[in-house]
Order: sequence, then C-alpha cells, then structure tokens
Amino acid sequence: MSENRNRAIDPRCVIVALDFSDAGAVIELTGGLDADSCRLKVGKELYTHCGPALVERLVADGFDVFLDLKFHDIPNTVAGACAAAADLGVWMVNVHALGGRRMMEAARAAVEQKSHQPLLMAVTILTSMGESDLHEIGLSGSAEENVVRLAKLAEQSGLDGVVCSPLEVTALSRECREGFRFITPGIRPAGTQANDQKRITTPTDALKSGADYLVIGRPITAADDPLAALQAINAEIQLSFPPAA
Ligand code: C5P
Repeated sequence: MSENRNRAIDPRCVIVALDFSDAGAVIELTGGLDADSCRLKVGKELYTHCGPALVERLVADGFDVFLDLKFHDIPNTVAGACAAAADLGVWMVNVHALGGRRMMEAARAAVEQKSHQPLLMAVTILTSMGESDLHEIGLSGSAEENVVRLAKLAEQSGLDGVVCSPLEVTALSRECREGFRFITPGIRPAGTQANDQKRITTPTDALKSGADYLVIGRPITAADDPLAALQAINAEIQLSFPPAA
C-alpha cells in the first residue's frame, strides 16, 4: 500500500499548470515564482500559442518543465516528438498509453539516446471520460479497471509513471512497482474554490494516497499573490510530511 511506502516527499512536488494563452502572462507569473519551490506544466493551449521558444525560456530561467502534450501517434512519430522534447530540455513529457506498447517502447528508446533524458509519463484514461464514453469507444470494464490495465502496460513498456486522478492512486500504487511515479491534478487546498473540478483532493491527502507530484493551476495562478499561495501549499505539505532531520 502506498501509505506504507517509506518515501520522502519531493520539496518541489507542486507542478504549477500554466493554462494561459500568451507568453507575457506566463513570464509575469513565473517571474514571481521560485524555481526551488515548484515545477511548471506547459500544456497544449500554451504550447500551440507560444511554441518551443517559451519552453526554452522557462528552462533557461531554471524551471523544471513538464511538457504535457500527451503524444499519441504511430511509434516512429511519437519517438521523434519525445526526442524533440528531450532536446528542449524539459524535465518530463507524456504520451497516451492507448497508443500501445510499441509506441511507448519507441518513446522510451528515443529518450534513452539523448544526453538529457526527461521523465516519460503515460496518460491512461482521461478523467473526463465516464463509463458510457469508454463503452462507446469499445473499452469494456470500469474506468478503474482500464486505468490499472493501462498503467501496468505503461510500466511494462518502460515508462516512469502515470498521470492519474488522486482517487486512483491507491489502487495503482498497489499494482505498480515501487518508484513508479504518480502525478495527480484535481488538487484544491482546503478553503479554495473547486472551479470546474468535480472530485477534488487536498495536497496532503493526495500525497498520503501515494501521489508523487501535484498539478495545481488556478489556486496558484489566479491567486492575488501566486507566490504566497504556492508557499502556503508547500507549508501545508511540510507540516504533514516534515523533512527528515
Ligand atoms: O486550475 P486547475 O488546478 O484545475 O488545473 C489543473 C490542470 O491539470 C489543468 O492544466 C488541467 O488541464 C489538468 N488536468 C486536469 N484533470 C485531468 C488531467 C489534466 O485537471 N484529468
């Protein structure tokens, strides 16, 4: 069980989701954050607006960047995209496990040829998909059964971990090897707005369930003082998981 894992919490376990459409807003926000106390996530919207130049800028500013582009294509194409992500210097990149074993193995092999090797993560089933959506695309079984099956396939294909709901982490950490990493969005510090997230978990509860990294957007990015919001989250985490003396 994840709760029995004797694991240290990464002091930069918070990954700030940069859900913006222009570089100016990102540079203003990240200029006020501290690369020693968080990491950053660049997703499809920001990347499509601003391209690799912004990612390179954030990396040059000292931030670890999770390039959340969820690649899903034929193995050769995904391998090329992952190699390009490695060349950008990102800390983490992800692919869809539904692309299959050969696609994930090709991604792994491409990254391994690089001098800088990002962590390679898988998305299993998008949390926006309910069981009727899954059945419509021909996937039988519950969402959780599909998530566990795909996470194990990602693990067997040499990936480093999966992005998942905080509610799935306990089941997944029971099934996957020690050290396989779990990233969870849907995080809300106590007392903050849920926004459009339906099933939310506090940072502490997500980490207690076995999450290694927490993707947090609006509670930080929409705060009057984003750095203070980040520091408050890190303080809450430190209280629950005091660093080893
Ligand atoms: O602002 P908020 O904390 O809700 O942002 C969460 C981030 O995590 C967004 O970038 C969102 O796209 C992403 N995400 C999510 N739920 C998933 C997968 C990704 O909220 N299942």
